[in-house]
Amino acid sequence: LLRASDVTKSFGPTVALHGGELCVSAGEIVAVMGPSGSGKSTLLHCLAGVLLPDQGLVEYDGQRLDAMSDAERSRLRRTDFGFVYQFGQLVPELTAVENTALPLLLERRRRREAVAVAQAWLETFGLAGLEKRRPGELSGGEAQRVAVARALVTDPRVIFADEPTGSLDSAAGVAVLDEFTGAVRSRGVAVVLVTHDARVAAYAERTVLVRDGMVTSPDTARTVRAS
Ligand code: ATP
Ligand code: MG
Repeated sequence: LLRASDVTKSFGPTVALHGGELCVSAGEIVAVMGPSGSGKSTLLHCLAGVLLPDQGLVEYDGQRLDAMSDAERSRLRRTDFGFVYQFGQLVPELTAVENTALPLLLERRRRREAVAVAQAWLETFGLAGLEKRRPGELSGGEAQRVAVARALVTDPRVIFADEPTGSLDSAAGVAVLDEFTGAVRSRGVAVVLVTHDARVAAYAERTVLVRDGMVTSPDTARTVRAS
C-alpha cells in the first residue's frame, strides 16, 4: 500500500534520512523504533507526504507522492490518512466532539452528519458523556482517545502515529493502545507506529529500526553486527 525506497532528506547541513526503505501492506501495523534524532519522524513525514524527500521515491497505492501537486497531496492526507501525535494535537478551544469532527468539516461534510459520526467514534472509545468538554477538561488518556477517534473519523486507509501514547503513564497508555489497535485491526487500517517503547512496538506485526537516518529491519541489523 505504501512504499518508500532510497529516501533521503536533509535539513540544511543535517542529513536526517539517507537510504530509507519501508513497505507497509494494507491492514498491517509497522513499528518504527530508534534513538532520538535518528530520523523516525522525518521518515513518517516523508511517507505521509508532509515532507517531500530530496531523493528517492514514496508511493501510495501505486501513485508517486512527488508527482502530485501540493493540493492533491493535501487532499490525499485528508481523505486517506489519519494522524496521531504525542503533543498538541487537539485544538484547545474546541470541544471533544468538535475536535473529532474536524477532519470531516475540513472535507466540507455537513455539520450535523460530521458531529454524528464523531459522536459514534467517541462512544467507541468510551467517551460518551464527555463530548462537550474541551481538551483542558480531559485526562491525558481521555484526550489521547479523542486524538485517536479523530484519526479514524474519515475512515482512513493508513494512520501515522508518532509516539501516540508517549505522554501517558503505562496503564493508561496500554488501555488506549489496546483500543486503538483493536479498532484498526477490525477495519483493516494500516498503521505506521513510531515509538521508543518496545512494549508499544509489540503491538505491531513488524518493527523497523532507524539509526542515523538508515532504515533497517532488526534481522538486517543482526546480520550486519555478526559479519
Ligand atoms: P525523536 O525520537 O526525538 O522524535 P526522531 O527520530 O523523530 O527523534 P527526527 O525528528 O526525524 O528524529 O529528526 C532527525 C534529524 O533531523 C535530527 O537531527 C533533527 O534535529 C533534524 N531535523 C528534523 N526536523 C528538522 C527541521 N524541520 N529542521 C532542521 N532539522 C530538522
Ligand atoms: Mg520524532
